[in-house]
Amino acid sequence: MPEGPQMVLLKEQAEHFIGQHVLKAEGNANNIPFDIMKDQELTDIKIFGKEILFCFPHFTVRIHLMLFGKYKIDGQLNQALRLGLEFENGAINFYACECRFITEPLNKVYDWSTDVMHGSFNPDKALEKLCSKPDRLICEALLDQHILAGVGNKIKNEVLFRRQVHPESLVGEIPETVMKKLVDECVKLSFEYLEWKREETENEHWEIYKKKECPRDYIPILKEKIGKSGRSCYFCDKCQKLYLPDNN
Ligand SMILES: [Zn+2]
Repeated sequence: MPEGPQMVLLKEQAEHFIGQHVLKAEGNANNIPFDIMKDQELTDIKIFGKEILFCFPHFTVRIHLMLFGKYKIDGQLNQALRLGLEFENGAINFYACECRFITEPLNKVYDWSTDVMHGSFNPDKALEKLCSKPDRLICEALLDQHILAGVGNKIKNEVLFRRQVHPESLVGEIPETVMKKLVDECVKLSFEYLEWKREETENEHWEIYKKKECPRDYIPILKEKIGKSGRSCYFCDKCQKLYLPDNN
């Protein structure tokens, strides 16, 4: 699943469509009024977490790539088109994604300060929200898109490894200074990840995600589905501390 940095890169790749008018809008997304979109000017492209927002004067089209979503700029993929926009200077096509038509002002729909890559991201508020649910596993809390929008499974695993926190730790048992560092690391790593995506070098940089051996301890990395969400956690039992009651 794409995480925030991939969406920021997608925005960069599509930015030349801003200011262009839609020549053709098509696809099988059943909740998008394609006829209304024709001739409309794309006024902006915004990113919120894992979503990309195509802004028009009176509405916004929101796309979430979900688990298997794909896109192609100036080309087509051999699968059913969910939403395609053609402009005078090219086209962008989306597949297997979730589309939504938004007519409310975006500032009412989105709290930009929860997006770790947005200029208005508020780490204190994120910390406060995380700490308000002390019984959660840290590996699940970091994926909460209402708190840290844009953080996905890769960022989660790497951040926990960097700050040496075991994914099964309980939020309420982790010292606040460590929690704060986890939040800061989510931001830092997201921007590093964006740089790696631009250079196409991301796989050279992961230290724990889908790796076999801990680079600190040279012992096997564990892979487990932890928590209700069942997302994969990659971690080292030796150097990532498990914060549990009576375990500090
Ligand atoms: Zn280790």
